[in-house]
Amino acid sequence: MKIWHVIPIEDLKEHEESPECWCNPTETEAVWVHNAADGREAYETGVRQLH
Ligand SMILES: [Zn+2]
Repeated sequence: MKIWHVIPIEDLKEHEESPECWCNPTETEAVWVHNAADGREAYETGVRQLH
Protein backbone atom coordinates (compact mmCIF):
# COMPACT_ATOMS: atom_id res chain seq x y z
CA MET A 1 0.00 0.00 0.00
CA LYS A 2 1.27 3.43 -0.93
CA ILE A 3 1.62 5.89 1.90
CA TRP A 4 0.66 9.47 1.11
CA HIS A 5 1.78 12.61 2.83
CA VAL A 6 -0.45 15.66 2.73
CA ILE A 7 1.80 18.65 3.36
CA PRO A 8 0.82 22.35 3.47
CA ILE A 9 2.28 24.14 0.45
CA GLU A 10 4.80 26.94 0.97
CA ASP A 11 4.87 26.35 4.69
CA LEU A 12 7.25 28.26 6.94
CA LYS A 13 9.34 25.16 7.54
CA GLU A 14 10.24 22.22 5.32
CA HIS A 15 8.38 19.03 6.07
CA GLU A 16 9.81 15.57 5.95
CA GLU A 17 7.89 12.83 4.18
CA SER A 18 7.97 10.87 7.37
CA PRO A 19 5.84 10.18 10.43
CA GLU A 20 8.83 11.61 12.33
CA CYS A 21 8.26 15.11 10.91
CA TRP A 22 8.48 18.03 13.34
CA CYS A 23 4.79 18.87 12.87
CA ASN A 24 3.64 15.62 14.44
CA PRO A 25 1.53 14.49 11.45
CA THR A 26 -1.65 12.53 11.96
CA GLU A 27 -2.14 9.17 10.27
CA THR A 28 -5.50 8.73 8.59
CA GLU A 29 -6.04 5.59 6.54
CA ALA A 30 -2.51 5.43 5.07
CA VAL A 31 -2.32 9.22 4.70
CA TRP A 32 -0.12 11.29 6.97
CA VAL A 33 -1.64 14.73 7.34
CA HIS A 34 0.97 17.34 8.20
CA ASN A 35 0.29 20.44 10.24
CA ALA A 36 1.20 23.91 8.98
CA ALA A 37 3.79 25.85 10.96
CA ASP A 38 1.63 28.95 10.86
CA GLY A 39 -1.46 27.16 12.08
CA ARG A 40 -3.38 27.02 8.82
CA GLU A 41 -5.64 24.12 8.14
CA ALA A 42 -4.07 22.19 5.27
CA TYR A 43 -7.38 21.79 3.50
CA GLU A 44 -8.05 25.53 3.46
CA THR A 45 -4.91 26.43 1.52
CA GLY A 46 -4.42 23.43 -0.73
CA VAL A 47 -2.16 20.47 -0.30
CA ARG A 48 0.73 18.78 -2.02
CA GLN A 49 0.54 15.03 -2.31
CA LEU A 50 3.85 13.23 -2.33
CA HIS A 51 4.49 9.58 -3.02
ZN1 LIG B 1 5.21 17.75 8.54
